[in-house]
Amino acid sequence: MNAFDLGKFEQEALEQWTHAFESNPSNLEKCYLTVAYPYPSGAMHVGHGRTYIVPDVIARFWRMRGKQVLYPMAFHVTGAPVIGISKRIAKNDPKTIHLYRDLYKVPQSVLDEFTDPLTIVRHFASEYQRVMTACGISIDWRRRFTTVDPTYSKFIEWQWKHLFEAGYVIKGAHPVRYCTVDDNPVGDHDLLEGDKAEVIKFTLIMFQHGDAFIPTATLRPETIYGVTNLWVNPSVTYVRALVDGSAWIISQEAAEKLALQDHTVEIQDEIAGRDLIDKTVSHPLCGKVPILPADFVDPDMASGLVMSVPAHAPFDYIALRDLQRAGKYTQIKPVPLIKVEGYGDIPAQDAVEKAGITHQMDSRMDALTQEIYSDEFSKGKLFDRHGGKPVRVARDDIAALMIEKYASKIMYEFDTRPVICRCGNKVKVKILHDQWFLKYSDPAWKKQVSDHLGDMALVPPEVRLEFDRTVDWLKDWACTRRVGLGTRFPWDTTQLIEPLSDSTIYMAYYTIAHIIREIDPRLLTPEVFDYIFLGKESPDLPETKKLEAMRKEFLYWYPYNYRFSAKDLISNHLTFQLFHHVTIFPKDKLPQGMVVFGMGLLNGAKMSSSKGNVFLLEDAVSDFGADTVRMFLMGSAEPWQDFDWRNELVISTKKQIERFFNTVLESKDADGEPHDIDRWLISRLQSHIERTTEALTNFQTRQALQEAYFRIETDLKWYRRRLAENSDGSRELHTLCSVWIRLLAPFIPFTGEYLWKELAGEGLVSFAPWPVANKKLINTRIELAEELITRTVEDIESIRKLIQMTPKSITISIAPAWKHEIFLLIAKSNDRNTVVKEIMKDDAMRKRGKEATDVAKQCMTLIHRLPPHVVESLAREPINEIEVFEAAKIFLEKEFGVPVHITDAESSEHAKAATALPFKPAIIIE
Ligand SMILES: [Zn+2]
Repeated sequence: MNAFDLGKFEQEALEQWTHAFESNPSNLEKCYLTVAYPYPSGAMHVGHGRTYIVPDVIARFWRMRGKQVLYPMAFHVTGAPVIGISKRIAKNDPKTIHLYRDLYKVPQSVLDEFTDPLTIVRHFASEYQRVMTACGISIDWRRRFTTVDPTYSKFIEWQWKHLFEAGYVIKGAHPVRYCTVDDNPVGDHDLLEGDKAEVIKFTLIMFQHGDAFIPTATLRPETIYGVTNLWVNPSVTYVRALVDGSAWIISQEAAEKLALQDHTVEIQDEIAGRDLIDKTVSHPLCGKVPILPADFVDPDMASGLVMSVPAHAPFDYIALRDLQRAGKYTQIKPVPLIKVEGYGDIPAQDAVEKAGITHQMDSRMDALTQEIYSDEFSKGKLFDRHGGKPVRVARDDIAALMIEKYASKIMYEFDTRPVICRCGNKVKVKILHDQWFLKYSDPAWKKQVSDHLGDMALVPPEVRLEFDRTVDWLKDWACTRRVGLGTRFPWDTTQLIEPLSDSTIYMAYYTIAHIIREIDPRLLTPEVFDYIFLGKESPDLPETKKLEAMRKEFLYWYPYNYRFSAKDLISNHLTFQLFHHVTIFPKDKLPQGMVVFGMGLLNGAKMSSSKGNVFLLEDAVSDFGADTVRMFLMGSAEPWQDFDWRNELVISTKKQIERFFNTVLESKDADGEPHDIDRWLISRLQSHIERTTEALTNFQTRQALQEAYFRIETDLKWYRRRLAENSDGSRELHTLCSVWIRLLAPFIPFTGEYLWKELAGEGLVSFAPWPVANKKLINTRIELAEELITRTVEDIESIRKLIQMTPKSITISIAPAWKHEIFLLIAKSNDRNTVVKEIMKDDAMRKRGKEATDVAKQCMTLIHRLPPHVVESLAREPINEIEVFEAAKIFLEKEFGVPVHITDAESSEHAKAATALPFKPAIIIE
C-alpha cells in the first residue's frame, strides 16, 4: 500500500481529468494562454514536451489562483511537407521509411496508409493528443480543430477579405526562394538547411571580353574604380550563353539562375576556366584588366566570376599577395578609391597586416571583410577624382549609372548558402510574376505593429530588440503556393494560402471552435464572422443563438493573455500574427503578451528529428513517468534558456519526487504539540509560498521549483534534526504537507492528485486554492534564533574537522552587550563609512580604545558576510543569544555527543572567548 507508483497515479488522475479542463465563460477573471500549434508530421520528442508543459504549469498555477483558464490546442496541417513525405513513403524511400517505422514507431498497417498525406497528419494529430494527455497537459480538447476543416477555411477567407480591403494583399513580381523540383516557392518550414538565408540584390558589372560580356556580381558597385583584375576558377567549366540576346560568359549554375530571373538564356558553348586565365577584359570605368586564377571562386555564387578590388577587399588583397609571393603578376598594385578615417592609404592591406593574417583560410577573414565594408559605408568618401561623394550616396548613384549606361543588370542571390529544400534540391531565387504577397514592407503597417509591441509584455524582456528588428526588416511575403494542403486563395483558386499566412489569428478561432462546427460551413459568410469577432450586425444572419454564444465566448476570452513559442519563430510567426491582429481586431482585442522559449538539447547536441537526435516524449513518459518528465523539463532551466535532456539527470528527478512522496506520507499524520521549531518551519513556509508565487507569476519555472521543492525539503531536514528524540513532529506538519502538495501540483499534478486525496483534501488538487502566505505566521525572532544555531552548528563541525581530536566538551561563548551595541549601530547605519567614527565619539567606547575599533571592524566584515535580510532583522529585533543557546542545549548535546556549556564571553577565562561577536559566538572545544 501507498507505494510510490507514478504509473498508477497517472491512470487514476487521467480518469478524473477527462473533462476537468473544459473551460467556459464565467464570472471569474479569465486567463487565456495559447501556444503555437504543432504541425503533426511526426512523433513528439521531449523538446516539444517542454513547449506544451511550460504553458501547462502556468495554466495550472492560475487555475489554482482562482482564474478561469483556457488552454486550447489545434493542429496545423497546411502546406506541402506532408505531401513530400507521403510521396517518399509511396516510393519506399528507405530514409523516410526508417524514420517513420523505426524512430516514430508507426505500425506497418498504419504506415501503409501514409501514401495519403491527410492520413499522416490525422494519425499524428491523434498521437499528439494522446501523448499530451499522458503528460497531464490541461487542455480543453473540445476546441481542437485542424487547419483544413471547412469551417476553418471559411474563417481564413474572412480574415483575408479584411487584409485585402486594407490593401495588404498585393500582386507583383518579386524574388522568392524557389524549388525547381517542387515547382513551388519555399517557406521556412520547407527547408532542410539555410532558413536564415536572405535574398540579396546584386549589381552585375559587365566587363567586355571580345564580343562577349563577363558579368561579376557586387554589392559595392562604386569599387569599380579600384578593380585590378577578375578572378576565375581554373577548374570550373563555364558557359557562353546568349542572355536576352547578348553573349555572356558565366557559370552553368548562373545560367540556370538567370533563367529564373526574367532573362532568356540560351547556352551556346562551354569554356574551360583555365582558358580564360591571363586573357583581358575591359570596362569604361576601370580600363583593361587581366583575368587571374583563384580556387576560391565558387561557380554557384552569383555569376560564377568575381572582380578583384585588392585595396578594399581583404580576400582580394591576400589572394593577389599570394600570387605575387610566388613571383607572378608583380606588376599589379592595389588601386585605392575610398578615403576612410582610421585606415591607411590601402585599407584592406592595413587591416590584414594589423590583424596579422597570413593566409586566405584565416577564420577572421569574414569578420574583417565585414568591418571594412561597414566602416567604408558609414564613414568612407570616394576620392575627389571619382566625384568625392560619401560611399553611402555614391553606391546607389553608381549602380544606377551602371544600369543606365554600362549594360549592368540586377541579379538576386542568397547571402548565405547552401539553401536546401526538404526534397533535397538546392533552392534558387526566382522572380515570381503574378505572385500574391502580404505587404509587410508597408511602413504604416509596420508602425502599427511597433506601436502595439510597445504595449505588450515580452518575456524575457531582451527579446524585444529582436521583435523590433524583425518588424523593421520584414519584406513583402509570398503568401500563396501552388502545392499543398490548406485554404484556397480567394482571388486565384488555383493557389493555396501558405502555412505561415493561415496561422496568424487562429487564437481567436479557438474561442468559438467547439460551437462553430455545429453550423453548416456553407452558412459561414463573412458577415457571420463580422458579427462574432467585430460585433457588426447584418440582416438575415443564420443560427443567431449559436452566433450569440460565440460572440460571448470571444468577448470573454479575447485578447489572449500570453502566447508561448520557441524563439526561432520571432522572425516569422510571432511577428506575423501581430501584423494580422492589428489589421483585423480592435485595439482592446490585441495580444497582450508573449513568452519566448530557448531550444532543446539532447546530451549536449541540438535536437533534430531529421538527424535522428531526439528522445520521444512518449518513451520518456513510459520510462520515467509523466511527473518526472515535467519536473525535469521545468527545473533544469528557465523557459527562455536552452535545456539539455540527459537520462542520468532525469533519474535523479524521479528520486526527488519519490522523496517528496514518502516525506508527505510519513509526515501528514503527525499529531505532536507544536514547539518553536514548528513555528520556525511554518514561518519559513510563508516565504517559500511567497517566492514560489512570485516566480510563477514571472514564468520562472526553475526558480519556482527551487523554492517549492528544494528549500522546503532542506527546511524539513533541519526540522527533523531538531525534533526531540522519539518525536515524529507536530500536527503543523499536516499544514505544511497541504501547502507543499499544492505548491508542487502545477509541476507534478499526478503525484499531487494522489497525495491530495491521501490528505483528504477537497476535490481535485488541480482546482484547489493556491496557498497564500500569511504574514502573521512569520516569526522573525524564531527564524533568527534558528539561523544562529544552524551557523553555530556548522562552525562547530568545521572546527572539529580541523582539530581532529575527540572532544570532551564544547563551550559556546556569547559576545558581551557592548559588542552587540556596536553591531547594532553599524547594522542600522545608513553610512557605513563614517559609522565607526560616530561610535568612537561615545565616551564608554572611547575608553575601550583599540579593542572597540577592532570589534567595529570585525562587525563590519561580519555584517557584509551575513545575508542582508538577517542583518535587517537583527537591527529591527535583536535576539537574546544566551536564551537561544540555552533552549538548544539538549539538541546540541545530542548532535555532538558531549556536554555543551553556554557562557558569557566576558566571564570566561578562555582566551578564545574574547573573539566572540554578535551572531558569531566563540566556540571552544576541549
Ligand atoms: Zn523541393
